[in-house]
Amino acid sequence: MAYDPNNIFARILRGEIPCNRVHETEHALAFHDIHPQAPVHVLVIPKGAYVSWDDFSAHASDAEIAGFVRAVGEVARLVGVDADGYRLLANHGANSHQDVPHLHVHVTGGRPLGPLLL
Ligand code: 5GP
Repeated sequence: MAYDPNNIFARILRGEIPCNRVHETEHALAFHDIHPQAPVHVLVIPKGAYVSWDDFSAHASDAEIAGFVRAVGEVARLVGVDADGYRLLANHGANSHQDVPHLHVHVTGGRPLGPLLL
């Protein structure tokens, strides 16, 4: 799938749409999900134009990948879910019901989450 530069997260990255920011680094931006599914529900996105985990893992540089993965861990510590535990989830493509075509990792926690989502 080609990257759509007008997807909602690209517009958030460009500052065209506001977000409730949690963290920002050279390679990542994190903000609260607009429809939280748990007491903590933060989205972490790479700053590069990647549709999904598949696109990112195939085409991002090692520095972007390392920076993004590190930022996800930093976000979990910043929002205080590291001690009790949290879930990371990234949807890719139609079968996963990915809505926004810019890679995002959901960081959820703040309560027991139950068994793995299917
Ligand atoms: P997906 O189904 O693509 O994995 O998840 C997309 C997520 O983005 C959803 O949880 C949805 O609530 C969130 N979302 C969609 N539009 C916006 C927005 O404009 N701002 C924020 N903060 N979250 C959004």
